[in-house]
Amino acid sequence: MRDVAYVALGSNVGDRHALLAAARDAMAALPGSRIVAMTEVEETAPLGPVPQGAFLNQMVALETTLEPRALLSALHAIERASGRERRERWGPRTLDLDIVAFAAQRVTDAELVVPHPELPNRDFWQRELAELESTVKS
Ligand code: ATP
Ligand code: CA
Ligand code: CA
Repeated sequence: MRDVAYVALGSNVGDRHALLAAARDAMAALPGSRIVAMTEVEETAPLGPVPQGAFLNQMVALETTLEPRALLSALHAIERASGRERRERWGPRTLDLDIVAFAAQRVTDAELVVPHPELPNRDFWQRELAELESTVKS
């Protein structure tokens, strides 16, 4: 199925702009996938209890034939290629790629929940998602 995934990109370690650019290129190169819209890059304060530097964030609309779990493993591979080490949740990272929503699909299992459960708590995600959805539909 050809569908649109909304992927949030975040980076707060290293050359943050370059890391986001490399992540966009890597997502666009995934099988059956292309970026059809993207928001501006913006800086946000870190969430959660761990003291750390500010994040650069962006959201892209990725048209893809990958199903959600296959997309998640591809995103994890891109995170690893950026040098990310998985230590603690909400900790500093070179690259974080989250599936915020998938236009026509719902998933609830141990590794993947879509729409992302934190969407109701993250105003900037809601704003970015609304912007991209209106671009993709028009
Ligand atoms: P948050 O998910 O609250 O933004 P985080 O991004 O810091 O926190 P991670 O350590 O990157 O959390 O991811 C923890 C796990 O979340 C991943 O290994 C993945 O299996 C799971 N996960 C569940 N739903 C999603 C989703 N929609 N997008 C990305 N990862 C997800
Ligand atoms: Ca995240
Ligand atoms: Ca994540």
